[in-house]
Amino acid sequence: MDPIAKLTAGFRVFRDGRFQEQRATYEALVDQGQKPKVAIIACSDSRVDPAIVLQADPGDLFIVRNVANLVPPYERDGHYHGTSAALEYAVQHLEVGHLIVLGHAHCGGIRSLFEKPVQGSADNHFVPPWMSLVRSAFLRVEGTMPDAPEDVKTRVCEQSAVLVSLENLMTFPFIRQRVGDGRLHLHGWYVDIRSCTLQIYDPIQQHFEPVD
Ligand SMILES: [Zn+2]
Repeated sequence: MDPIAKLTAGFRVFRDGRFQEQRATYEALVDQGQKPKVAIIACSDSRVDPAIVLQADPGDLFIVRNVANLVPPYERDGHYHGTSAALEYAVQHLEVGHLIVLGHAHCGGIRSLFEKPVQGSADNHFVPPWMSLVRSAFLRVEGTMPDAPEDVKTRVCEQSAVLVSLENLMTFPFIRQRVGDGRLHLHGWYVDIRSCTLQIYDPIQQHFEPVD
């Protein structure tokens, strides 16, 4: 089926099915406004849709998606900060109580850190600078496990990048303040859709713990 026709057909199925079943929920979400308790920073990867993987309902999740689910550090330089704008809205205006950085296995963005950059290529203007946000995670992996298999390196790098994003979240004054007074909680999660596993970062043990 044509990919666009598949989507418009999908909308009709939604309109006549799930929307009808949850009509009252949707009307309340419009009339009373959204009040999600959780915001998620997830990857743009088509295989890792937080609402599907976590079986969320409408209004549950405020979702920010970008390449490799990264959080940049707090910067007020007048440039265009899409992820930071979404975080500001989620925390300052919606007052979510939880921020989850949802990393994932088989991430193309993280894999690109292991590939040699093509100098002068017209198609790498934005991804390499964006991925340089987690170059520290890449260097840590290359420095501590240079002989490990590629899949192990990328998994460790994917998880390490989640921790870099959590650290960067704490550079935002409005996040740091709310974490400090207990209004906001930060979480590092990692999902693998091949093995269908979810791991949650334990800051005390300093490792990702699988969910039963
Ligand atoms: Zn990804």
